[in-house]
Amino acid sequence: MQYQCPKCQSRKVMPVAQANGVAARPMVPKSLVILIPTILVLLLLIIICIVMSIFGSGVGQTLQILTYAAAAVAVVSGIMFWRDLPDFKISMQAFMQSQKKWKCRECNHEWEN
Ligand SMILES: [Zn+2]
Repeated sequence: MQYQCPKCQSRKVMPVAQANGVAARPMVPKSLVILIPTILVLLLLIIICIVMSIFGSGVGQTLQILTYAAAAVAVVSGIMFWRDLPDFKISMQAFMQSQKKWKCRECNHEWEN
């Protein structure tokens, strides 16, 4: 098993869709699907809060509540993801092992395990 290009030793490899049917896909936990956009929204809200408190007349109450709500959702989904992480790792490993065809993003070399 190698997750690096045999030609240029780059680790920037990606799976190639297999011709014989559907390849096993890793199970992405729902908590991760919630966590990533929530963190992005939270970052955006924090930036807006900082900008408003510097240039505006303080941060509005609605914005404060939104920021706290986004932070709470991020924390909860973060904890949920932490608990899902062992299962996610196992399904990722299963996916990596079932994946036979790989392609290098550096030199476009393709190979099979
Ligand atoms: Zn390569």
